[in-house]
Formats: sequence, structure tokens, C-alpha cells
Amino acid sequence: MKKNNEESSFEYIEFHKSPVHGMGGFAKKTIPKGTKIIEYIGDKITKKESDRRSEHVLNAAKENPEKGAVYIFALNKRYDIDGNVQWNPARWLNHSCDGNAQAQNLNGHIWIVAKKTILPGTEITYNYGYDVENWEEHLCRCGAKCCVGHIVAKEQWKKLAKLKAKKKEN
Ligand SMILES: [Zn+2]
Repeated sequence: MKKNNEESSFEYIEFHKSPVHGMGGFAKKTIPKGTKIIEYIGDKITKKESDRRSEHVLNAAKENPEKGAVYIFALNKRYDIDGNVQWNPARWLNHSCDGNAQAQNLNGHIWIVAKKTILPGTEITYNYGYDVENWEEHLCRCGAKCCVGHIVAKEQWKKLAKLKAKKKEN
């Protein structure tokens, strides 16, 4: 376990254009499962400020879904992290419904951690974990076999399926 802490740096990741969407992060070398690949950093903001920023983005997304990316992560009960800042390269990582990494809150820091062994050159993706509440604003074109068509936390996929079915009925 300690080994992973010492290894955490940019030694595993590089950023360039992605076949999925815009920029992406790619494995520079083999990344063992459980490796902390990169920390997701940003502005530490209150929940109130976070709500204000999220609403702003969602309103923009209603007009143009391409602008619907929310970069905010819950840090703890009081604060969130808004990663939409120049100095957070982790914001370039793309969402996938079947990501090879995941975002984890480790002692008040958000880390992108390898879910499985990632081979060199592979794009590093994770589930953004958006709440199902705004599913219609967050279209997904990740190309994974299991893609649910929207960027939604996996725990809420069942709920998403119900919402989609309900929409078809109407
Ligand atoms: Zn998808």
C-alpha cells in the first residue's frame, strides 16, 4: 500500500488529443491496479458556491450539451473542489461508462486511481459519477459496450433506466 503513495506522480500519465473527446489522459507505461495516477485538484469552495457554479453550468448545458461538463467533486460535508482550473490537468480525463480508473476521496484529497492494470498508450477514463437528477443534460458517447448514453454514476443506472423508460411512454 505504501508503495503506491511513493509512486504517485505524473510518472504514469501524459495528456494529448483523445479519440473519445477533446483532450485525454493516457498511460505512459503500465499502471498497476490500485495506483494513484493523478490528484484531482482545484478551487476549494463552499457547498453554497458549488451550487451556484453547478447551476450556471447546467443552464449553459441546456442550450449546448457540449458545455455541460461539471468539474465539481464533493470533498467533505462543508467543501467541494471545482477542478475547472488551468492548474488541474486531471480535468482533461474523459468520462467512460466502463472506465479503467475511478475517482476516490482519500483523506480529503481526490485521486484518480487505477481500477485495473492499464497498459501503455491506453486512455485513462473514469465515471464522472454525476447525479442522475440532470441526466438529460449529460449525454455520453464513450463508446463502451455498456454505455448507458448518459453520464451518470453507476449506482444510479437503474434509476436512469426507469427515467428513460418513463420518458418514452410520454
Ligand atoms: Zn458512456
